Amino acid sequence: MGKTLVMKFGGTSVGNAAAIGQVVEIVQQARDSGEWSRVAVVVSAMSKVTDKLLAGAQAAASGETVQAERLASEMWEQHIAALRELAPQTPEVEETIAAYLDEFAAICHAISILGEASPRALDAVASLGERMSAPLVAEALTRAGIPACAVDAAEVVVTDEVFQGASPDMAITQARVEARLLPLCEAGQVPVVTGFIGATPGGVVTTLGRGGSDYSAAILSVALGADEVWIWTDVDGVMTADPRIVPDARTLPDLMFREMSELAFYGAKVLHPKTIRPVIERKIALWVKNTFNPAHPGTRILPDNGVTHGAIRAVTAFKGQQLITVEGRGMLGVPGIAARTFAAVARTHTSISMISQASSEQSICFSVPLASGGAVTHALEDEFHRELARRDIDRISASEEFAIVTVVGAGMRHTPGIAGQIFGALGAGGVNVIAIAQGSSECNISLMVAAGEADAAMRAIHALIE
Ligand code: ASP
Ligand code: MG
Repeated sequence: MGKTLVMKFGGTSVGNAAAIGQVVEIVQQARDSGEWSRVAVVVSAMSKVTDKLLAGAQAAASGETVQAERLASEMWEQHIAALRELAPQTPEVEETIAAYLDEFAAICHAISILGEASPRALDAVASLGERMSAPLVAEALTRAGIPACAVDAAEVVVTDEVFQGASPDMAITQARVEARLLPLCEAGQVPVVTGFIGATPGGVVTTLGRGGSDYSAAILSVALGADEVWIWTDVDGVMTADPRIVPDARTLPDLMFREMSELAFYGAKVLHPKTIRPVIERKIALWVKNTFNPAHPGTRILPDNGVTHGAIRAVTAFKGQQLITVEGRGMLGVPGIAARTFAAVARTHTSISMISQASSEQSICFSVPLASGGAVTHALEDEFHRELARRDIDRISASEEFAIVTVVGAGMRHTPGIAGQIFGALGAGGVNVIAIAQGSSECNISLMVAAGEADAAMRAIHALIE
């Protein structure tokens, strides 16, 4: 049978000619290693292109078409500069790119007439980035002597009709992969598949959501029965902390799926757990690697029963949070206050990131994004106007800006004293902790601190990582 490798390259990894040159070298090495019988590639749009496409469409919706024209010429420059360097005199690819940019202009024009961009139209626009990058990368590989061809995932990945966040129909997709991709691989070709996109059974283009090309790589790996998936990005795998804030942050050699999920939720730049779950479930080996430092082994993502080292694995923080507190002595022992609190928040369509209630039941506090604080307090004042009048609830208040600092590690579960170490380190660092939450998964401890103290908190906790 031989082994199958799927490699996904993100936006910066195909962002310019030099980056694509690295991609070519990485694919070449994988082929030369003799380890893989089949190699398939999934690509993102060149860096910033998806943003530009969507910005053009949005501007068109508010009647500005010049914006789209300016962005189209920027995107043309970006693609053509790379193409001319990697594969000069390739009129077919130039024409393909020109045709997609014409399509961009045409859809923007239609949007400007309608004065509105539907999710379906936005997907049609957003899909163009990967449709331009894939032929470019395929051509660069071909020029380097690697037989390759671009494949439009709209012909392979079949999805539902949830535009901007479509989900695949795995059975039909599997059949398409077997009919369309597998023969290419068997013939020794490297298919270069557009990430991020798919199409409905009727052939209407959809996208899997922003950052969705990881999801594409997962879908295709499962359908191809891949042995390994390598996600190529622009950092050396998953790090213990953001190196811009914690200078001695380092790459984790391995990370469990649930640890990665916690980090992703708390805003660390790692793989989206939903997209990667199928890969983990199939026990396909998953690596995160750096296109610009390919010799570095990167991070291996392990199933949840895997063995990793150390209790605290990583620390992350996100700012822009506000603490909402509902407090009053009349809340003691009254059932339904929490349910009504969260129902009122839900009506404002606000997502809560952290909840904490001490067992004295005299206050419930939780965090919401800064921008939603006003709406949330109004909704709560409405909900509890009677209790407020009767003074059963004394106060509903919103704090100034806070950050949530999250400490992640599956090993914390079996190790007593971790919380003690964390609070000791924060105390020594002069950081005041305002609220605490630990889920019973014990895989994460979250703390709220003043926004200005978040960086110091991260550095203090990071020093505890073995
Ligand atoms: N190009 C898409 C985006 O920027 C998908 C991806 O890069 O994963 O969201
Ligand atoms: Mg991206």
